[in-house]
Amino acid sequence: MEKFRSQAIKELRIQNKISQKTLSENLGISNRAVSKWENGLSQPSAKHIYCLSKIFNVPMDYFYEKPKNKSVNKAPKGMTSITEIYKIGRGPSSSHTIGPEKACKIFKENNHAANLFKVILYGSLAKTGKGHGTDTVIKKTFSPITCDIEFNFVDADLPHPNTMQLIAYKNDLEIDRIRVFSVGGGNIVFENATVAPSKIIYQHNKFTDIAAYCKDKRIKLWEYVEANEGDTCRRYLRKAWSMMKESIETGLESDGTLPGGLELQKKAKTLYNSQHIDESPETRENRIVCSYAFAVSEQNASGETIVTAPTCGAAGVLPAVLYYQQQKNNFSDDQIIHALMTAGLIGNLIKTNASISGAECGCQAEIGSACAMAAAALAELFGLSIDKIEYAAEIAIEHHLGLTCDPICGLVQIPCIERNAVAAMRAINAVNLSSFLWSTRKISLDNVIQTMKETGHDLSSPYKETSEAGLAKIKI
Ligand code: SF4
Repeated sequence: MEKFRSQAIKELRIQNKISQKTLSENLGISNRAVSKWENGLSQPSAKHIYCLSKIFNVPMDYFYEKPKNKSVNKAPKGMTSITEIYKIGRGPSSSHTIGPEKACKIFKENNHAANLFKVILYGSLAKTGKGHGTDTVIKKTFSPITCDIEFNFVDADLPHPNTMQLIAYKNDLEIDRIRVFSVGGGNIVFENATVAPSKIIYQHNKFTDIAAYCKDKRIKLWEYVEANEGDTCRRYLRKAWSMMKESIETGLESDGTLPGGLELQKKAKTLYNSQHIDESPETRENRIVCSYAFAVSEQNASGETIVTAPTCGAAGVLPAVLYYQQQKNNFSDDQIIHALMTAGLIGNLIKTNASISGAECGCQAEIGSACAMAAAALAELFGLSIDKIEYAAEIAIEHHLGLTCDPICGLVQIPCIERNAVAAMRAINAVNLSSFLWSTRKISLDNVIQTMKETGHDLSSPYKETSEAGLAKIKI
């Protein structure tokens, strides 16, 4: 049976500038009955739906939900700017803090007259929203206007695991409502797309096609990015790189415990300063790279400003690898920017063809994607060929396939922080393997991205940022 759309009456009433009182008088029923329909507390009879269709001059099926495609359509034919992969914002979670913050800002701007807001969080946003600080960010965004927050743990029939309903009131009367999906990496999609979607600026959306194009034109991947994005991208990436370095440097000086109640000690500083008496260069590299990844991840867990790469939870992997190389081999900022361009392209391909959301595809989509980006960046920095860059990224994501997202207490701390460090080392390993073995490879990056998507959809929901299974069941 088709489901009645409670918001349809409200939409039409507002569009036609009819008050609840006038509508109820036209229908010969009480004001309260119309209010109940609009809030989904009851449903009009067939006779009243017929009358409503006549009053608003719409077909009767306007009031019923169309058969829906269960996934939010977010795969455009081309790709948007890579700057969307590198969002500068407050942690700890791109989908649970940056995305909701952005949605609430837009909704607030569109509802200047409102004197009360309400937000209903569903799915993963409800289950791990407290741990991720979603409610705190939402309240801050609507401040000084009051915002009531409801955590809905019941509804499971959602178009996206990170769904939120935003409602605006003026003097107790509802004046606007919209559903928004936080689709990962701080990106949001408004239901029925009342907000203009991001511009498509790349005509290709498969690595195979991009590689063929670059080889034909004899250009590098970063040159392909710059040719499509223009100067603004380079300027933005300079800012993002500067923020990444700041996160590492501040994180390395930071002591104490992380917020949230797990009483987890910050470890970046200790790791950076501890040294074995007879430390080998390999052990030192491991320790220093990991300390950088810990530094960014601990800044993120503390709610400080970081750069998504491609998400908040996985923000430590890429900067750790690049910062270590810059310190060790004196790579210039321009060389790092080129590496960021190539890494952004890989992140963009994953976002477009699969997902970068832990709630949608598990941690393979966050840490796996970050590792692929870091491997591609390092391969670009070392001047490796396009085929070697592809193989490095493919190895990096392949060996994260099936990785679950099960943060303890919904906090982006355990396993997230260590996982960033391990993935940074794995990215270095992937580049080493690629430089020797690239000619023997059998599967492409596009193949693995598609596999990651399918694996993510096969993972059961408790393993996708709900804190219901896996490590999240451990009581600390
Ligand atoms: S487990 Fe992975 S995907 Fe889940 S919150 Fe932590 S870093 Fe993000």
